[in-house]
Amino acid sequence: MLTFHPIPTFRMETKRATSSAEKICPRCQQEKSLGGKRLKPGECNVCVVVQGAMEAYGEVLVKHFPEAKYGDQSPLTTFALLNALENAAAEWISNNFPKKKHGKAA
Ligand SMILES: [Zn+2]
Repeated sequence: MLTFHPIPTFRMETKRATSSAEKICPRCQQEKSLGGKRLKPGECNVCVVVQGAMEAYGEVLVKHFPEAKYGDQSPLTTFALLNALENAAAEWISNNFPKKKHGKAA
């Protein structure tokens, strides 16, 4: 028998959603205060690193396959790659930079 499964949400609700709009990354909806200096205003460092890695990935593909006419890649593969990069970047940053205390801007 088939059952209906609603589409799962990818991000859990934050525990401190109230009065923390500036602490939450608008792109990934996670806390920005992972550690290290703030790389770009408005976004968390994980998103900045993931975007840079994705741009580098695209540049390498274009460099090695200049004759390609399209840059097709399935959304599922792209999502898996983004998810893996996000997890790797978050782990790397949290392993290498201590988390900031409250009220201290990076
Ligand atoms: Zn983010």
